[in-house]
This record gives sequence, structure tokens and C-alpha cells, in this order.
Amino acid sequence: MVSRVIPVDPFDLVIFGGTGDLARRKILPGLFRRFCAGQVPSDARIVGAARTDLDSDGYRQMVREALAEFGRDIACDEGTLNGFLDMIQYLAIDARGETGWAELAELMVGKGRVEAFYFSVSPALFGDLAERLQHWGMADEDSRIVVEKPFGHDLASAKELNATLARYFDEKQIYRIDHYLGKETVQNLMAVRFGNMLFEPLWNAQYVDHVQITVAETVGVGGRGEYYDKAGAMRDMVQNHLMQLLCLIAMEPPARFDPDAVRDEKLKVIRSLDPVLPHHIARGQYDAMPGNEAEMPSYREAVDHPRSRTESFIALKTHISNWRWAGTPFYLRTGKRMAARSSEITVIFKDTPHSIFAEDAGRHRNVLSIRLQPNEGITLGVTIKEPGPGGMRLIDVPLDMTFAEALGVDGSDHVDAYERLITDVIRGNQTLFMRGDEVEAAWAWTDPIIEGWEARHDVPKPYDIGSDGPTDSTEMMRRDGREWRKVTP
Ligand code: NAP
Repeated sequence: MVSRVIPVDPFDLVIFGGTGDLARRKILPGLFRRFCAGQVPSDARIVGAARTDLDSDGYRQMVREALAEFGRDIACDEGTLNGFLDMIQYLAIDARGETGWAELAELMVGKGRVEAFYFSVSPALFGDLAERLQHWGMADEDSRIVVEKPFGHDLASAKELNATLARYFDEKQIYRIDHYLGKETVQNLMAVRFGNMLFEPLWNAQYVDHVQITVAETVGVGGRGEYYDKAGAMRDMVQNHLMQLLCLIAMEPPARFDPDAVRDEKLKVIRSLDPVLPHHIARGQYDAMPGNEAEMPSYREAVDHPRSRTESFIALKTHISNWRWAGTPFYLRTGKRMAARSSEITVIFKDTPHSIFAEDAGRHRNVLSIRLQPNEGITLGVTIKEPGPGGMRLIDVPLDMTFAEALGVDGSDHVDAYERLITDVIRGNQTLFMRGDEVEAAWAWTDPIIEGWEARHDVPKPYDIGSDGPTDSTEMMRRDGREWRKVTP
């Protein structure tokens, strides 16, 4: 089955930070893929902007190289590539200076179409960009801005950032990206939850034993050491990505699938989260790989901070104090240099109240697993009889709800999270973007946890590279009579 591609209206997209890593790795390849799919009209305009002194030809060459490196999987001929490059131009602009702004304002004059400004730069520049866009008359009602994470590093800074942006743009014009929300499976999760009668009656504390959300990475901190050591796994991953996934799993059915209805429900979940107790948290820092310390240094060496107390791993248990979820634990876990790269949400249902089968027949729980990467998909573990003679023995088999084969969906239909979110920006659909109050509520929950560590001078426990994190994490589960799902690629 070929998916329907509905072209977006012509637009102007300015990428501030157009020479940066994110633009080259995600934004430009994403736009190119949508162009090849026929979704981006050829009279759209893409303007790269940064301080680097380049002309448009030089920038197009840079984009060509970025696409060769990060868009290798995109099947497109040279003519199509040239057509895409023709849409692109470059302006040297300093977010903090006067260079380039008059030229940009002139370029944007009077087209009467959607103007999007992607702030793919350090958050320290968001205010400068917003202020100059307004000063030069580009912050009009047809314009929208896209801002990247991190959105603040605590509640106070997030409030300040929200207040700064609100001086120049209405909330309806601000698109805060969390690329986890752009993943196909995350949206499929909502379709499965709210498009079927089957699950919703069971989706509560009476039938769900617990929920696990794991985002495991095999990479270390890489070149992001300076930023990461100030953030840690809690700020870098839990406050945003894991929190968003938790919201989608736990929220009440919104009245409509529209931006404010969905985001109102997510906000209620965040506001219902209990504070996390210190013994419901396991923090870790990865050790060096014995015998390969040069390529796989310890966290502290990687960030060049021998006494760092920042966590590269965190596991925690939290509860949602509302009628639906009271008593059901939600376990969140994320870390670097773990056994496999894997992001998965798992809903583990309770045992049947009574087994009619012999004790040695075996007993399994239903497990709904929503896998975000790699191999996006949703499976439901169901119990059936093991085929063949030999009496009644029960086995657990996965029911694949991705139906990739049945739908004939293959790699060519693949839509990356970034490209989906960029087309949503152009269409003016904020459903998959975080609202300012959501971000603030998430920080309000996160801040006391981090302040607690700081007050106690908490030191993360070491863990081996390629493991499932420190033993504290396993212990936390064992105390509850549960275990983490194995992290598998
Ligand atoms: P980067 O590689 O350091 O790029 C920064 C960009 O900003 C460059 O194009 C730089 O170009 C431009 N820039 C710096 N100062 C400027 C100024 N005064 N005026 C105009 N442009 C300026 O950073 P990045 O990795 O692309 O990240 C960009 C944003 O996305 C950050 O907020 C980051 O946290 C976020 N993010 C990145 C990733 C990722 O995978 N890279 C993932 C999630 C979020 P010039 O030096 O030429 O000015």
C-alpha cells in the first residue's frame, strides 16, 4: 500500500544555524526526503542562515555534501537533487549583530505565505533571534518559530525563556520540538489506544501491573561533554523525551485529536505525578572499557571532569496520583553506553485472577510493547496453547500490530520524526509540539529531584559499558518483585 502524500502549501523556511550539525544531519535531509516524496512544492524557499561567510552557491555545496552523508538512503535522481538545491539560498546573519537582517527582511517581504523560522542554534540566542525578527517586521501573524531542546535547564530558566518568546510571538506561533513525538510509532500508540475498544477498558490500575519506559543508548557523551556534564540524563532525556512518552501512555482520552485537547490531557498527567523518593532512584556513571580505555573512556574522562557527579544513567519509579493510575508504578530508565540501542515503552498487564490450568502448564502476562527504535513497531504478547500433542502447555506469542507486511509499508515510506514535525509546522498543526505550560510543569517535577541530589552530594554509582546500568537499578526493581525488560537491539 502506498501512503498518501498531500503536498503542503508553498512556504518560506529560514534555518538559523543552517550550517550546524542538526541542520546538516536532520533538518535538510528531512526536507529533501519530503521534496522527493512530492510533499514540498518547488516554489517553497529554504534559507540557511549563520555567521559563516558563505554565498548561496557555497551553501548549496555544503547542503549537497550533507545530503550525500546523511541522506544516503534517499532514492532520488540528480535532476531532483538539483531541483531541491535550487530552492535553497544562504544569508550570513549574526543573531546578536546587525549583519544580514535587512537582507532577510527584504527577502521575506509581502509573499503572503507561511514563514517559519527554525531556531537551530544555542538556546542562549533564542531571545536575540525573536527580538530581531520582531524589530525587522518578520514576527507577523503568519510567521511561526521552531525551537529546539534544551528548553531551559530548570523551572526558572524555562519560565524566563517562555516569557522572552511570549514578548514577540503568541503561543500559537511557537513550536517546541520533541522529536520523540514525531515518531510513527508514538502516533500509532495514540491510534491503538483511542481507535480501539479493546484496550481502553483495561488501561488502568485495575488491570495494568506496571509500565516501563526505557531509552537506552550505546553511544557515550561524544563531543557534547561540556553541555552534557551540566545537564545529565535527568535534564537531557527524562524531563523531555521520557516525560512526553509517559504522558501519551497515561493521559485520559482527549475529546478531539487537536493540539490543545491533547496537550491539556498531557499537562494533567505531569501535574498528577508524585514527587520521587530518593530510594526510588538509581543514578549511574559509566566506567571505561577495560583494555580499550582510549576508545571507550569513562564518563568522567569523556567530559574531562575527574570529580563529576553528573549521571549518564538514571532509573526511577514514579506514581500518577489520579483515579486511573493510583497504585500503578511507572518505571523510567535511560542511559548512555548501555547494552543496546533501544527505546521501548512496555505495559505489563496483571495476572489473570485465577488459572484454570495445571501449575506446570505455565503462566504468562499480557505485555504490550511499543518499540520506538530500532525497528519501530507494536506487539502484544498473548498466551496460547503450545501446538501439538502433549497436553495443555501455555506459551507466550507476540501479536504484531505494526502490520508492516500486511500494509506493504517498506523503507521507501519511512518518514523521519524531523520531517514529519517540519511539515506539521508548515501546516500549522501544534499537536505534536510541547506547549509552554507543559514544559514548565515538567521542570517543576524535575527540579526537586535534582535539588535533592545536590543537597545530599549524591554520587552516581559506576556501571560497566555494555551493561544494563548500575546494580542499584536492578535492585530497585527486585525490591518490588519485578524486573526490567532486557535491553535488546
Ligand atoms: P552546532 O553544530 O554548534 O551549530 C550551531 C549553529 O549556530 C551553527 O550553524 C552556527 O553557525 C550558528 N550560530 C552560532 N552562533 C550564531 C550567531 N551568533 N548568529 C547566527 N548563527 C549562529 O549546534 P547543533 O548541534 O546544530 O544544535 C543546534 C540546536 O539544536 C541546539 O540548541 C541544540 O541543543 C539543539 N539540538 C541539537 C541536536 C543534534 O543532534 N545536533 C539534537 C537535539 C537538539 P556559525 O558559527 O557559522 O554562526
